Order: sequence, then C-alpha cells, then structure tokens
Amino acid sequence: MGAITGKTKVVGIFGYPVEHSFSPAMHNGAFQFLGLDYAYLPFPVHPDNLAAGVNAVRALGLAGVNVTIPHKQAVIPFLDEVTPEAELIGAVNTIVNREGWLVGHNTDGQGFVTSLQKEAGVTPEGLEVLILGSGGAARGVAVQLALAGASNLYLVNRSLDKGAELAQVISLHTSASAQGIPWTPQALADLSHRVGTRECLVINTTPLGMYPHQHTVPPHILEVVQPGWLVADLVYNPVETQLLDRAAAKGCRTLSGLGMLLYQGALAFQLWTGHTAPLKTMEEIIHMSIDN
Ligand code: NAP
Repeated sequence: MGAITGKTKVVGIFGYPVEHSFSPAMHNGAFQFLGLDYAYLPFPVHPDNLAAGVNAVRALGLAGVNVTIPHKQAVIPFLDEVTPEAELIGAVNTIVNREGWLVGHNTDGQGFVTSLQKEAGVTPEGLEVLILGSGGAARGVAVQLALAGASNLYLVNRSLDKGAELAQVISLHTSASAQGIPWTPQALADLSHRVGTRECLVINTTPLGMYPHQHTVPPHILEVVQPGWLVADLVYNPVETQLLDRAAAKGCRTLSGLGMLLYQGALAFQLWTGHTAPLKTMEEIIHMSIDN
C-alpha cells in the first residue's frame, strides 16, 4: 500500500470472519502497481452489525466494499439499488458508492464466465452444464452461464429443494432450461447417459476438496465424467484439487478456481476505480498468498 494521504479513497471487504481473505493483498498490490491513491481494508462485520456497516459506507464516504460470507444475501435490503444480474442471483459481492447511493453488483458469476472463456477457451453458448452444489457461488455461476446462453443446467445438490429453487429461477428468467437433480450415483449416471457425447461442463461449487480437507472429492462424479468434458473447480486452495487431478487422469480438461477469483476481483477493481485491473500483478499476489 502506498502512503495514505488526505485524498486516499478507501475500499474494503465486509465478512465474518474476514482474516482468510486474499482480497486486501490482491487489491492493495494492484493499487500500488498502478499508482492509484486507494487503500483496501478488511472489515470484520458481525451479522448483527450489517445494517450499521452498510450505513458506515455512506457515512464514512468509502468508495465501495466487497461483501463475503455470510453477508452476500443479507446485505441486499440495505442497498439503494442492485443490478438485474445480482437481483436474479439473489446475492451481492461488490458495492459501489455513487455519492451516497449504494449499488450492489455480483461479479462472481461474470468472473467465472471470463475465466472459462480466457483460460479454457470455452464460450457458454449451447453448453450442457452440470453444477455440484447450489449455494451462493453456484447461484452466481449458474445464473451468469444461463444469461450467457448455456443450453441446459443440471443443479445437483444434496438438499434437492435448493437446487430445484435455483432451477426454477433460471427457467423463469432466462432462455436456458434448468432442473434440480438429486446427488445420487444413479441420478448422475442417468445424467451422463443423457448428455452423451455433447460438450459438458462440470463445476464443483461445494467446498469439498478445499484446504484443510484437500483430500476430499465430491462423491460419485468421477464415475460418470466422460473424456473430453471440461471439469472446473471453484476451490482455489489448493489450486490443483483432487477432483481436477483425477478428472484429468480420466481424459477430461480442467479449470481451477484461481481464474474466477482473479476476474471477480478485477471486475470489482474496475467498478470502483474505472481503471483496467493489472491482472498479472494480481495473479502473482494470489499465488504468493496461497503459498504462505
Ligand atoms: P455456500 O453458500 O455455503 O454453499 C455450499 C454448497 O455446497 C451448498 O449447496 C452445500 O449443500 C454444498 N455442500 C457443502 N458441503 C457439502 C458436502 N459435504 N456434500 C455435499 N454438498 C456439500 O458456499 P459458497 O459461498 O457457495 O462457496 C462454495 C465454495 O466456492 C467455497 O469453497 C468457496 O471458497 C468457493 N468460491 C470460490 C470463488 C472463486 O473466486 N474461485 C468464489 C466464491 C466461492 P447444501 O445446499 O445441501 O447445504
């Protein structure tokens, strides 16, 4: 971080806990690289204090904040406006302060779609997509893929009602078709058979495989993936998860969660500063943060 001056613009992240976040290092490194007079701070906002925290963005004149677990959905009623995408997703991860008028965005799904295009060379149009998990990150990714032209989305979740509810939102508001699928060996085998040789994108949006449980793998999926499918993991710590390693051994292409982390951050950076984010610097900082 450069020297703080009377003109320094302040951004940050609201989460609880927030100590694990790589975002302060990533954004401060990017501000410094571009010589921008901004500072990014971690704010451990207890859920009971969320309304006061959002009012503080206005009262203290922060330029904006990222919002992470557990506030992404709960923050919406306290904002002045949310983008149509964030409204469909039902979650906000970036707030922009436009002279006291707080606008909620969701850059998670767009971050994933950008990573898919730039790093795997795959565009969403016409894709078959099998998503494991139906939590906050799954909602962002699924809605954005549907808006970007994916054809069919299969939402596989252990709590079937959550997958079915997300499928209903997508079917009602986008041109994609979507359905909730129970997370059983038989349902996954049937799905694999139905997709057949068409190009399929499998995305793990659960925390299974994430440090310190890096030896866990989402159940039953490796038995049904087919060579040539693209398997993506939103988990980025470790970068190469067991799921990705074992899918590659079965002839699948793979995509790590690092790109989504990078591009969702880059989009937030651009929303606050109006500058294109220095991707290479941000990526180096993420790698250093993971290695520590
Ligand atoms: P979340 O809202 O808590 O959702 C977690 C989902 O995983 C839920 O659908 C949950 O199922 C499912 N799940 C959890 N444990 C499971 C288990 N043992 N077996 C089967 N399903 C299980 O969390 P989130 O915010 O979506 O985050 C999920 C993951 O994505 C985290 O690892 C996070 O680090 C990662 N993420 C990465 C990025 C990135 O930039 N790469 C961005 C956001 C999130 P139920 O619905 O049945 O509870």
